[in-house]
Amino acid sequence: MLFIDLDRFKEVNDCLGHDLGDELLLEAAKRLQRCLRTDDTVARIGGDEFTVTLPGLAKTLDIEPVITAILRTLAEPYRLGDEDAFVSASIGVACFPDDADSVTDLLKGADQAMYNAKRSGRNRFCYYTAAMEKASQVRMHLISALHQAIDEKQFIIYYQPIVDLETGRIIKAEALLRWRHPEHGMISPGAFIPLAEETGTINDIGDWVFREAVRNAAVLQPLICPDFQISINISPVQLRHPDRLCAGWIDFLREQAPCPSVVIEITEGVLLQGDDIVDDQLRLLRDAGVQCAVDDFGTGYSSLSYLKKFSIDYVKIDQSFTRNLGPENDSLALCEAIVVMAHKLGLRVIAEGIETAEQRRLLLAIGCDFGQGYLYGKPMPIDEFEKLVGNREATTETVALIHRREPLH
Ligand code: C2E
Ligand code: CA
Ligand code: CA
Repeated sequence: MLFIDLDRFKEVNDCLGHDLGDELLLEAAKRLQRCLRTDDTVARIGGDEFTVTLPGLAKTLDIEPVITAILRTLAEPYRLGDEDAFVSASIGVACFPDDADSVTDLLKGADQAMYNAKRSGRNRFCYYTAAMEKASQVRMHLISALHQAIDEKQFIIYYQPIVDLETGRIIKAEALLRWRHPEHGMISPGAFIPLAEETGTINDIGDWVFREAVRNAAVLQPLICPDFQISINISPVQLRHPDRLCAGWIDFLREQAPCPSVVIEITEGVLLQGDDIVDDQLRLLRDAGVQCAVDDFGTGYSSLSYLKKFSIDYVKIDQSFTRNLGPENDSLALCEAIVVMAHKLGLRVIAEGIETAEQRRLLLAIGCDFGQGYLYGKPMPIDEFEKLVGNREATTETVALIHRREPLH
């Protein structure tokens, strides 16, 4: 049993319209038939998904030439009106009776394998394996647990200080999500955010994070300074669901007294997509006084033109650069270039992942504005953050001395 899903068919539909999309599907079906014997069955089971049954073939030896032929023919250009469209296919393979002995289970196995083919980069095929079944069960379990986590109050936000590099004074904090799972303990966002994005749960989670972080920032602000800012990570998925996002948040911000100052952190991918919906959302937030930071700067396309176009306020230099900083090395040169260009454009720069005094010294010397990292504090619950602020007040003078700007060479 083959489960075939066309890659990026949606883009054809969106760009060329549904009539030409239908034409492509008809052509794909014809091409599929041409690869098969008369005894084989091909079916379209919905959208751009097809299944093929290949009775009586031996695993790998006989199947693979057929699959390779299918992949090749489906990837050839499709002439649609005056345009050539290009799509490819991802194929999952499950074999009777080794992998499953019912139609339902065969389909399910082939579907899971297809999903793996997609994740491995598309335009390829994958065999079903038992490990895949296990991984899929873990996934399903996590997905349903994620749904309950908000209601069960299992999420908690940690706060990590962001300091003015020159004075060492805490001036902002980044809100970082944690999941206190009743069985698995503390789970870091890297382990569940991608899943939450894939299933759309990130919309509810992100909404909770925003409101909780803003409420806590209202508590922290009087303890820290009037221009204290809370920095909140926003997933690209959230920006594409505008009904869930800005209007509600802007109202929510207006209700806060005092209203804390908010920075949202987005990745550069969001800006590069040039999506109109995303543009509108960012503009609405800006108009409501929310500032914007580009996270993980330097790891992707790093285009400086969009920083101006979207009126970005901060760039955050990625940890990988900070980690490798050394006197006169490439990372230092890159960081310096980022700082100079950002300043020319009127943006300010936050360096992430500062762990050593030497990294701080080098960043300060190239004129970086703000710093964040274990040197200043790990992400921590709000009560610990309050304590840190209290202790810092007492030692501000010493800190200011330590942070005095030193020459680079
Ligand atoms: P990020 O926004 O780049 O966050 C910085 C990560 O670096 C955090 O990991 C933080 O704990 C870690 N970090 C901070 N200082 C240091 C340091 O000096 N050394 C090292 N080695 N690491 C440091 P964390 O908390 O595990 O978050 C991982 C990612 O998860 C974040 O990366 C962010 O992309 C995402 N994330 C966290 N909270 C949220 C959220 O509420 N919403 C969304 N959409 N994403 C979130
Ligand atoms: Ca961030
Ligand atoms: Ca980052």
